[in-house]
Amino acid sequence: MVAGNWKMNGSIESIKILLDGIKQGLGEVNNAEIIVCPSSIYLGEVHSQIKDTVISLGAQNVSEHASGAFTGEISVKMLKDYNCKYSIIGHSERRTLYSETDQLIAKKFVTLCEAHTIPIFCIGELLDEREAGKTEDIVGRQIDAVLDLADIFAFKNSVIAYEPVWAIGTGKTATPDQAQEVHSFIRKKLSVLDADIGEQVQILYGGSMNASNVAQLLSMPDIDGGLIGGASLKSADFLAICAAANAAAE
Ligand code: PEP
Repeated sequence: MVAGNWKMNGSIESIKILLDGIKQGLGEVNNAEIIVCPSSIYLGEVHSQIKDTVISLGAQNVSEHASGAFTGEISVKMLKDYNCKYSIIGHSERRTLYSETDQLIAKKFVTLCEAHTIPIFCIGELLDEREAGKTEDIVGRQIDAVLDLADIFAFKNSVIAYEPVWAIGTGKTATPDQAQEVHSFIRKKLSVLDADIGEQVQILYGGSMNASNVAQLLSMPDIDGGLIGGASLKSADFLAICAAANAAAE
């Protein structure tokens, strides 16, 4: 699975160019699921442009509420109007810049699951947390917030994205071994509660993944794909990552 998080980038014009490039180059990709997550204002536009392609649509966030007086928010029902199969939640930019807490993100997780929309649940540690040896405590705590509100079955068919915050948009990638260690911890944590769910949950790596490091990262046993920021904004770069994911899934 490869998911492109376009963040607050693009315009009607640039999105068309990007999608045309992706659509033209994606021909041979049939093992990996490819997802694009545009800014919410372009969900309708992208939805129309990816009809009849293998590309799936994801949102970058969702409200924990069903509807009502929540100015500026977007409900899961609205996402479903545009056939959004996925929504990113808990991205570190939402956690850090918009003060989203573990508990709020857990509510969003449950809201998505109840509406049969798949969460791409981002978790990860800050640099000082890693340096203090707290990585497992942090990602464990982020997962526990969901388990406190729901149960292990909420993770059935969900996607987790392990994104060390120090690697996002910095050009610093976790080494394959560093990433594998945390992915394995996450899988084991879920497997203790339900072996099947632990086994089948897709765990993506995110943090400066690009065409040159993707193959090595995806060769690790517990890395099932990537959540891509910067490199998802250029069709050639994104396609190279998709092709590597396709080869890894063969
Ligand atoms: C992200 O923001 O989810 C991300 C992984 O960004 P980048 O690939 O640019 O590090």
